Amino acid sequence: MMSNPRNIRPVHAPQTHFQTENNCLMVGGIAVTRLAQRVGATPFFAYDRSLLTSRVAHLRASLPAAIELHYSVKANPMPALVQHMAGLVDGFDVASASEMRVALDTPMDAAEVSFAGPGKTDAELSQAVAAGVVLSLESPGEARRAARIGEALGIRPKALLRINPDFEMKSSGMKMGGGARQFGVDAEEAPALLREIGALGLDFHGLQIFSGSQSLSAGTIADAQSQTFQLAQRLADHAPGTIRLLNIGGGFGIPYFPGEQPLDLHPIADNLEAWLPRVKDALPEAHVAIELGRYLVGEAGVYISRVTDRKVSRGQTFLVTDGGMHHQLAASGNLGQVIRKNYPVAIASRMEAAEDDTEIVNIVGPLCTPLDILADRMPLPRADVGDLVAVFQSGAYGPTASPSGFLSRPPAGEVLV
Ligand SMILES: *Cc1c(COP(=O)(O)O)cnc(C)c1O
Repeated sequence: MMSNPRNIRPVHAPQTHFQTENNCLMVGGIAVTRLAQRVGATPFFAYDRSLLTSRVAHLRASLPAAIELHYSVKANPMPALVQHMAGLVDGFDVASASEMRVALDTPMDAAEVSFAGPGKTDAELSQAVAAGVVLSLESPGEARRAARIGEALGIRPKALLRINPDFEMKSSGMKMGGGARQFGVDAEEAPALLREIGALGLDFHGLQIFSGSQSLSAGTIADAQSQTFQLAQRLADHAPGTIRLLNIGGGFGIPYFPGEQPLDLHPIADNLEAWLPRVKDALPEAHVAIELGRYLVGEAGVYISRVTDRKVSRGQTFLVTDGGMHHQLAASGNLGQVIRKNYPVAIASRMEAAEDDTEIVNIVGPLCTPLDILADRMPLPRADVGDLVAVFQSGAYGPTASPSGFLSRPPAGEVLV
């Protein structure tokens, strides 16, 4: 195997977020072998609190001070993590009643929580209005239902209008605006709905314009932000009140695959710096917020599983672990990837193997499907039954974005360290 370099997949940049001590990966100052004992079972997700804190500090230091940071709770709704984020960011964006409950259990002011997502039920709208969170309205029907529910409750609903922009965020991992979408109202329909929101008596807060997700191109993000500001200025003339919040979306990506580089924040910061005075002129009362999920939490988490079997099939070595796609769907390559590529993976209990003690291995999960892959022909230290495998970049879209019911195995543990 080692003599056939064509079989070797390109490698990742070294993972520098987590320390190594005595040959073992550390999370929050604790060796993961020890952490596994503390948790009591594998597999589990471990999130490093200090990495969350330093990521937000890095953003604050890089972006203009006037830019507010919102955390998009769906990226990782673990209550302890959301609690930690409450002390770091300016607002939360939620997309279900259950995420809203987690957000409201923290010290975050309800008025700094916005509730987006198509197809909010009457029950969700009613809970949100009663809580005093800001509804991000996704359609005319939703605006009318919100108004009716507000009347019934005797509470004036706070509302943003979510816009499906008339442009796309190019080369983003996931396009969420432009073209025909289930999200928001088309920019060209927005003037009429903005007038109706006024007539319905909703407490208008502003606009949310979200165009894409997981972009590693600063130029692309800056471009989308410029177009967002232009669109907001055009729509402001039709608004039924002052724009107090302008949520310009996010889209900041993190590197997952070999060859990808971390996002360079400088061009984004420069562009925002250039726009802010113009926004201040046109929309003097608007707070400008960006909403980020994976960029804030994705690199702060690892998924730890244990090797339960080691076998060879037709010359290839397979490590079978107790974790897999039922907890970490994205790392298996089955959450939106067109061509499967490896997430960064390490043998957490053997971080510093000698060159002659490495091998090319496949790491697979326990599910009865060939889709259950954590590493495809990766060069890694030679591991055995009992060793721990770490999948990095696992702080976002892990347990709640994976088919945890598939094969009826137990859910993954989660710890914030
Ligand atoms: C999912 C989502 C986000 C967060 O996306 P990330 O790629 O995790 O940053 C932000 N805003 C909206 C409206 C979303 O739906």
